[in-house]
Amino acid sequence: MKLPSPFEETSNSSKPVQYRVYAIRAILAMIMAALIAQINLDYAESWLYDLRIRSDLFARTSNNIELVYIKPTTVQNFKGQPNAKDQTAILHNLLAANPRAVVYDFAINEAQGSEEDKEEWANLITQNPQVYVATPNTPLKGEEQSLYLPLPYENIRMVPAPKTSDTINFAKDRVTRRMLLSYQDTTMLPTTLAALYNPAIKDFNNVRGYFNFYDTKQAFIDFRKPGSFPATVFDELANGTVDWSKFQDKIVIIGTDLNISESDYILTPYSRIPSAMTRIEMQANIVDTLIRNSSPLRAPYYVNWILLTLISILAIQIVLSMSPAMGLVILFSTLFTFSVISFALFWICGWWITMAAPLLAGFLVYYFFIPYRLIIENRRSWEYYQKNKLLSQVEELKTNFISMMSHDLKTPIARIQGMTDVILSDQVTLSAQQREAVDTIKHSSDDLLKFISSILNYGKIQSEGVELHLQTKDINQVLQEVIRKHEFLAKVKRIQIVSELEPLFPIPMDPDLMRQVLSNLVENAIKYSPDDTKIMVSSEEKSNHVVIQVSDQGPGIPEDEQANIFTKFFRSKNVKSTQIKGSGLGLYLAKYFTELHKGRIFVESKDGKGSTFTVELPMEQGGVNA
Ligand code: ADP
Repeated sequence: MKLPSPFEETSNSSKPVQYRVYAIRAILAMIMAALIAQINLDYAESWLYDLRIRSDLFARTSNNIELVYIKPTTVQNFKGQPNAKDQTAILHNLLAANPRAVVYDFAINEAQGSEEDKEEWANLITQNPQVYVATPNTPLKGEEQSLYLPLPYENIRMVPAPKTSDTINFAKDRVTRRMLLSYQDTTMLPTTLAALYNPAIKDFNNVRGYFNFYDTKQAFIDFRKPGSFPATVFDELANGTVDWSKFQDKIVIIGTDLNISESDYILTPYSRIPSAMTRIEMQANIVDTLIRNSSPLRAPYYVNWILLTLISILAIQIVLSMSPAMGLVILFSTLFTFSVISFALFWICGWWITMAAPLLAGFLVYYFFIPYRLIIENRRSWEYYQKNKLLSQVEELKTNFISMMSHDLKTPIARIQGMTDVILSDQVTLSAQQREAVDTIKHSSDDLLKFISSILNYGKIQSEGVELHLQTKDINQVLQEVIRKHEFLAKVKRIQIVSELEPLFPIPMDPDLMRQVLSNLVENAIKYSPDDTKIMVSSEEKSNHVVIQVSDQGPGIPEDEQANIFTKFFRSKNVKSTQIKGSGLGLYLAKYFTELHKGRIFVESKDGKGSTFTVELPMEQGGVNA
């Protein structure tokens, strides 16, 4: 009996029941999704976000920004930080190159120099509106005076250009991922600078992916890896080895890279080491993001929700309807495809869809429902076990009953046959009509006895009670006996039995069982052949085997039925509709008995063109269960 997989819906379940099962699964998946949505996965999500930034293959810059660094070598060459006089001279040269903006992003009031030198520098700055001084501070409304430096820089209004980091929010890993566009209506310096190239962003509504966060307007930075912006060391500006023309029409940001103050550096999605990127490179990234207006766009909440729910539903469906190996393959490939799509969307469109929750949901839901699956599996196999037990009990009862019945039937039949023989042997008293009636009784009881013998043998096979009683005997003898016994039957249909028996050595066999096998073949040949045909019976020796063949010119056996004729109770469709009687057990028994002899039985036949049954028996004693 073929057991259905415990996870297949049972075949008698109607469609509405199936839909109900799916609906329940979907609701369970939604509950799981809702629970998973409660877990704070900011850290994992940020990590996956960083991975997407890091692996971006399409990253380009707008090529509008030049960085200038005051490095430890500069301090060495200048015997201290460049003083006000050096700065003034360099600013003159820079302005002559026509940049769009020059930004000082360090504490300019800390530069050494005489009061006149400082004043001259301060004047040059205030006279040129394209020169900006950045401050990392963002004063509250009402505290704007802190944007002004002490004398002699009192006329310079610094512009806030702070750094943000995920210290107490989101991933809490101190990495810089966001930028401030404005704070309490004060526009931040990078926003002003980017507007020089992309005026549209002056209206924050045009900034892609911008969002309000407390009193600020923010967006995510579309980071480029460190070193993406061209940088020059300050010394080159001082000694004139620089090509000034490269600053034309660019935003030049001057800052320090001295490895002294942590505030000069940020942690980036690329790296968490404290000096991963200089603050001025961060400013360049912010300005560049705004010029290209390419802030990553966070998918709306509901999109993330749908993804989470879909993956949960899929995971439940997989765990409850597929085999474990197949399920894992499908789960992994779905999650892999989902990840690839998420990455591609980020690289190509800058769309940031939540990955952590759906990925976690895939695994959590899958493993959460495994115990449930095991319970169902167990319950079903228990049911099948019980059903099987019952079936085999019924089968045993049936076999016992059949063999008991057949056995008890055999005796009265034998008596009937004995009595009919007695009556038939009386040549005188019977009229022709009576003789015909008694003949019919005799043939019918013969048929009945054959049928009962088949059933008895079948019962013996079922209870594994058939034993081989081997004798060494010439199979031709058995064949001749069988042919002789069937000659009368053949004559009735004017069928000619032609035998071609080669002389053979005696072989080990159970003569009773082989007689039954060969009788069945000859009887079938007579039974199924039309009148006035021929039957060939042959025997020969072939490579250590005795080969017996019974061929007829009967209706043949359709190809699609040939595989079945040796199974129990099988009768051909054509035959069932005719008057020809049979139990469908003959060939089953023949095959069983032949195989007990370690032999082989098979048929070759073409529909409508007769059949040839072949029995091969081994000649060696060792080939048989002696
Ligand atoms: P049955 O009691 O029906 O003859 P068997 O097991 O002996 O049962 O044979 C099984 C089936 O094989 C038959 O019902 C018949 O359809 C087919 N068959 C057997 N021998 C022949 C034959 N010589 N020619 C055509 N069909 C045959």
